[in-house]
Amino acid sequence: MNPVTDWLASRARLTPTREAVVEVVTGLRLTYAELDRRVNRLATALQRLGAGQGDRIALLAPNAVCYLEMLFAAAKTGTVFVPLNHRFSVPELDYVLSDCSPHLLIVHDAFAEVGRALSSKVNIPNVLSFGEYAGLIEDGQPETYERVTGDMEDPWAIIYTGGTTGQSKGAVLSHRAITWNSVNTVVSWGLTEHDVTALYMPMFHTGGLNALTMPVLHAGGKVVIGGDFHPVQALRLMEDERCTIALFVPTMHHLMTESPEFAAMEFSTMHTFLSGGAPCPLGIYEKYWSKGLAFKEGYGMTEAGPNNFYIHPDDARQKIGSVGVPMFHNQVRLVDEEGQDVPTGSTGEIWIQGPHVFSGYWNKLEITAETLVDGWLRTGDLGRRDEEGFHYIVGRKKDMIISGGENVYPLEVEHVLAEHPGVSEVAVVGLPDPKWGERVTAVVVLAAGTELGGDELKAHCTAKLAGYKIPKQFHFVAELPKTSVGKIDKKQIEKGLTRSAG
Ligand code: ATP
Ligand code: MG
Repeated sequence: MNPVTDWLASRARLTPTREAVVEVVTGLRLTYAELDRRVNRLATALQRLGAGQGDRIALLAPNAVCYLEMLFAAAKTGTVFVPLNHRFSVPELDYVLSDCSPHLLIVHDAFAEVGRALSSKVNIPNVLSFGEYAGLIEDGQPETYERVTGDMEDPWAIIYTGGTTGQSKGAVLSHRAITWNSVNTVVSWGLTEHDVTALYMPMFHTGGLNALTMPVLHAGGKVVIGGDFHPVQALRLMEDERCTIALFVPTMHHLMTESPEFAAMEFSTMHTFLSGGAPCPLGIYEKYWSKGLAFKEGYGMTEAGPNNFYIHPDDARQKIGSVGVPMFHNQVRLVDEEGQDVPTGSTGEIWIQGPHVFSGYWNKLEITAETLVDGWLRTGDLGRRDEEGFHYIVGRKKDMIISGGENVYPLEVEHVLAEHPGVSEVAVVGLPDPKWGERVTAVVVLAAGTELGGDELKAHCTAKLAGYKIPKQFHFVAELPKTSVGKIDKKQIEKGLTRSAG
């Protein structure tokens, strides 16, 4: 056994009787010792099915304990876990499976039809139903797997990125990367065995698997897996299970804080509400703060952790919108087009270096070589740092609009528009324009019962933004399209607007 790669065994030794995980939908509750034994049985079955070191094992399932069992069984057997995005279409899943060519695929009953469609397209040696999977890990099954002495650089999981900017890419995460992300997070955020997290982020995504789930387990705490996200159920679960910390994307926070139940609840055990994965409108911060609750934003990406920064809740109230300072064992640079560090207060590309950084993209040497350069991960995101070292995310490089030769950062404009009480959600994009090159365009969802026009919103911007940043055009829509992990889908918005213009 490798004492670093198989750390669930260490947890089961240290805190065998503490509850590790709860699956709300089925009522299943497992201690660390129970979880470890189920994983031992799965590891034994994987080897019986011929899964050897380096082989990929894939899972298509809703959020459930099986994600953790597959991940830890991969650690024990040296195989590589690939969680599949179940919101992907059959062609998208077909691409992912052809790309990673797994030795085995487990298909949950909820996706049996998709599983059948895929099995006829992709050649996978072992495709198991969820019933068959359950049979492999039930009490009485052998726990006789051959322990694999892995290396920290060996891949542990391939997580496909959100696909927000283009085709989703398989980020190869080594034992080193996943374990250090957990250690960095436990140390920097001060997690302990008393932490309980509510999990509604998708577990096929780094936000559901690595952001809090693995760190909380590393610390010996408890992960409560909710079912499909429903704002009121999520709020109740946090009260009922006495949760202490939870992460949601901004869209989920928006829905939870809008619900009337939110106002009535106390959340007496919660020490941190976290937002991540996409920019968070400042109005959401206010909703939590007005109830005396600690709320802060994290910046993360599949390729780095995802966790990279820490901000103390008190600082979050002083440095509004900041993600804080780089966390433990992590270096951050902000760099200009020439590769030089930008001065304090200026915007540059975020470069990250640390043991939590990924190994590269699966089957994508060229993009890997452009992304990982001289030991630095070039994130493609823009940030700035104030004189006290606090970092602010400015947006994606790809989203930056150049209008009349001036750089416009959509996030800055979105924050200003979101401050207007009549605006519920907003996205700012650049559309092709013969005069300006790109035309700053806002797509707005109005708050219920509000009537508002573009002129009023322009007037609202005038006091706060330079003229070239103020949207030239406003579109009012009932809702904004979202990606499979709930981020605003700007690609889709731009496509829709370009089509309607043409
Ligand atoms: P793809 O790489 O396939 O286009 P993606 O970048 O959305 O998809 P993820 O790894 O899920 O895939 O998301 C990471 C990205 O999310 C970051 O690179 C950043 O652009 C954005 N992001 C994360 N946290 C924040 C934040 N707090 N504020 C602004 N943007 C954020
Ligand atoms: Mg990305």
